[in-house]
Amino acid sequence: MTSTGELLLEHTRDVPDFPQPGVLFKDLTPLFAAPKAFATVVADVADRYRGRVDAVAGVEARGFIIGGPVALALGVPFVPVRKAGKLPGDTVQQTYDLEYGTATIEVHTGAFAAHRRALVLDDVLATGGTAAAACALVERAGGEVAGIEMLLELTFLGGRELLSSYDVHAIAAV
Ligand code: AMP
Repeated sequence: MTSTGELLLEHTRDVPDFPQPGVLFKDLTPLFAAPKAFATVVADVADRYRGRVDAVAGVEARGFIIGGPVALALGVPFVPVRKAGKLPGDTVQQTYDLEYGTATIEVHTGAFAAHRRALVLDDVLATGGTAAAACALVERAGGEVAGIEMLLELTFLGGRELLSSYDVHAIAAV
């Protein structure tokens, strides 16, 4: 584990049985509340992709909090991957399976046409369903996935298998 990984884990709070019984929720609000640690994590991510990506695709909602500063550090556009019904323009949508039911996310049509190489960014990699859907959206909106960055990977859920055709990096794995 890198020192950034250790710093990240020091600023992650484990909340048992949230949002439902049996889930150990990884709460990153302590990281967001610690400017020095947050800046270290943002710089770590940005350094990994500098010169290799043309846009940052952040997944709602914590992918927005991390993705905005990363995009600014890289000097590239930030593209929000939103839950369905929130974007005002024409969109492409992707529906994926959750443990119970389904979810739909969307981006504006052609969002990556002018800046193709996208970094897909979110806070936690669990089953990988959300990240896989975000990657499909990047491709359907004119881009290509240059990498997937997660702050924290829950290895026991095997999300990487669903993302085996992509380059996936996590700062810390538990
Ligand atoms: P998944 O699609 O299963 O990989 O789930 C990923 C999404 O759900 C991410 O956007 C995470 O923010 C959230 N998530 C799933 N499991 C957890 C967890 N144990 N702690 C915090 N967030 C989680």
